[in-house]
Amino acid sequence: MERIIFHVDVNNAFLSWTAVYLLNNGYQEDIRQIPSIIGGDEKERKGIVLAKSPVAKKMGVVTAEPIFQAKKKCPNLKIFKPNMEWYKEKSTEFKKYLQTYSPIVEQFSIDECFIDMTGTHYLYKDYIEVANKIKNEIKNNFGYTVNIGIANNKLCAKMASDFEKPNKVHTLFKDEIVSKLWPMDVKDLFMVGKKTSQELHKMNINTIEELAHANPKKLSAVFKSQANYLKDAAWGIDDSEVSEEKRHKSNSISTTDTLPHDTEDIEKLKERLLFQTERVCRELREKNKYATTVAVIFKNNNFTSYSAQAKLSNPTSDSKLIYKKVLTIFENNYKKDPIRLIGVRLADLVEIKNEQISLFDSNEDNYDESSIQKTIDQINKKFGNDLIISASLKAIERHETLK
Ligand SMILES: [Mg+2]
Repeated sequence: MERIIFHVDVNNAFLSWTAVYLLNNGYQEDIRQIPSIIGGDEKERKGIVLAKSPVAKKMGVVTAEPIFQAKKKCPNLKIFKPNMEWYKEKSTEFKKYLQTYSPIVEQFSIDECFIDMTGTHYLYKDYIEVANKIKNEIKNNFGYTVNIGIANNKLCAKMASDFEKPNKVHTLFKDEIVSKLWPMDVKDLFMVGKKTSQELHKMNINTIEELAHANPKKLSAVFKSQANYLKDAAWGIDDSEVSEEKRHKSNSISTTDTLPHDTEDIEKLKERLLFQTERVCRELREKNKYATTVAVIFKNNNFTSYSAQAKLSNPTSDSKLIYKKVLTIFENNYKKDPIRLIGVRLADLVEIKNEQISLFDSNEDNYDESSIQKTIDQINKKFGNDLIISASLKAIERHETLK
């Protein structure tokens, strides 16, 4: 049976959700109708545009520019702070509402969900009609608009929801690939970043149609393992399932920090990673779990994200062993670009520690300091901060720095 997948995407989520919050709390204006922005966290990063209203956009305000610059373009600009707690609440409400239409809902980001509607045609004869119903109900019940993409897989549903905004339902079924997907620029293909699209343009592959017909050998030569993805995506092929809980989300712990200033300072980045490692390891120990995979997440000043991961020789919750791995990953993968956001993720978490210890591992490496660390965790918890980091962790950092 042909699958039916919806991708539901909140239009201008941060600004819309803030508008709803303000209206609920007696604010007279709908900030979606006036020149307004959501401005970056003032404590951490002074004045960056996170989201803009359509009026502000018309006046030339762009996402990620400094607020003072936006104000120059738009002197009567109103600035509102982001409210992450409220956004999370709205996000949960959004997902719960979608679950009333199908049990298989995958949260893709704070304001996007995939719904697997396959087999629900007994309930809803016309998928376009039901998508319109969802769209209108969200608007009437919750006060903000969404776009919905309908397709036979996730990739095409995601592409379709992006076609024309706001408050629209679009389809991108198999028989519409040629007419709707192929004329688009390769830069608009899902998961194609700035660098990849530049490379493609250099190869004179500009439209998705050109990518679909590109020579596979030439593509592999430039894009290695990514070449297969590109080719499939250009033909609208994607077999991935809508999973209720994305595995890496449910089975991982992560933390990221947006830095006060973009930095290329390796020592500063390592120090941040040290605190983050301690933070995620503490959570890991609280859950009595052990990590198998460690990853470092980077986002640079161009908002390009990359990450790298490595397996630990044994599942562990030992901050010292995990930080060692974090540093190795960092050193092998950091592209020396100005970093805006950095983070650590522990994944493939297991409940029971695998006691098999490789004969070739040195004793020191496998010495489990978890009881000491649990005590430190308790102290830190009591005082509610990251003040105490075990001396041995600091020692690794010094050691790694000297190398
Ligand atoms: Mg959105």
